[in-house]
Amino acid sequence: MDGRALAERIRGEVAADVAALGRVGLATVLVGDDPASDLYIRRKHEASREVGIEARDHRLPAETSQQELLRFVDELNHDDAVDGLLVQLPLPPQIDEAVVIRAVEPVKDVDGLHPVNAGQLYLGRAGHVGATPLGVMALLGEYRVPLEGARAVVVGRSDIVGKPVALLLLAANATVTVCHSRTVELGARTREADVLVVAAGRAGLVAREDVRDGAVVVDVGMNRTPDGLRGDVDPAVSERAALMTPVPGGVGPMTIALLLQNAVRAARYRRGLLAYPGG
Ligand code: NDP
Repeated sequence: MDGRALAERIRGEVAADVAALGRVGLATVLVGDDPASDLYIRRKHEASREVGIEARDHRLPAETSQQELLRFVDELNHDDAVDGLLVQLPLPPQIDEAVVIRAVEPVKDVDGLHPVNAGQLYLGRAGHVGATPLGVMALLGEYRVPLEGARAVVVGRSDIVGKPVALLLLAANATVTVCHSRTVELGARTREADVLVVAAGRAGLVAREDVRDGAVVVDVGMNRTPDGLRGDVDPAVSERAALMTPVPGGVGPMTIALLLQNAVRAARYRRGLLAYPGG
């Protein structure tokens, strides 16, 4: 499954949407200078510029207090030029991430992490949903992978990837199993999957023998190893899978494209062009 090609098409659609809306504003906040976060933020801004989104890159020092960050988030909440707002995670240890996530105005929360958005997804009336889970679903949709009644297995239960992916698959009428670090006999579970989504952050966790012939495999993992960027799934799995995403070039580019689409959605919600379910 070619994430680069689909992401490029989505970016083209987003550019047309931005032009039709007149302007779309996205603000990102990075606290500290974590090199991986810095790279993600730069990619998000590059992609925003390409589609005409007005993106503001706010950088705060690593020693910023929780109070200072909350005050800053509040300013952006009240700034009419900001449609979408995201605070890059992880945050430094003096800051409680859950408190900051709750401080972001839900209608601007393009990462879909605010309890209102997470709750709406749980209730089956989704508002903002994170870009990575949406990217996984968009790839499955693009390749017309049948989900209704399918056995879907998700490895990973993070709030950012595993849980929202599981809820989206459930909403698409798949029969969903969620695996995690305490799962006994992980391989036996993954072998049951018609559709397998792996987001564990462990290079090569899923081996060739852990997947059945003809399965569809989405590898969300992005692991920096001495041999370069590696997914959570052994590339040899592609010999058995009917479809599989490569790393890089699979879910990664989709995440950026769907973030841009989420910024457009935030602008539509805020202008009353689309009903916001969490309002
Ligand atoms: P987290 O570390 O937050 O969560 C990892 C999950 O995997 C946890 O639920 C954990 O279980 C589970 N897990 C860890 N080890 C095992 C194991 N040996 N067997 C079974 N389950 C295991 O990571 P994220 O969800 O944030 O990210 C997952 C991966 O996806 C990472 O490689 C990350 O870099 C990548 N990623 C890629 C993106 C993209 O755009 N392509 C975007 C976001 C993430 P437990 O809950 O029990 O600890």
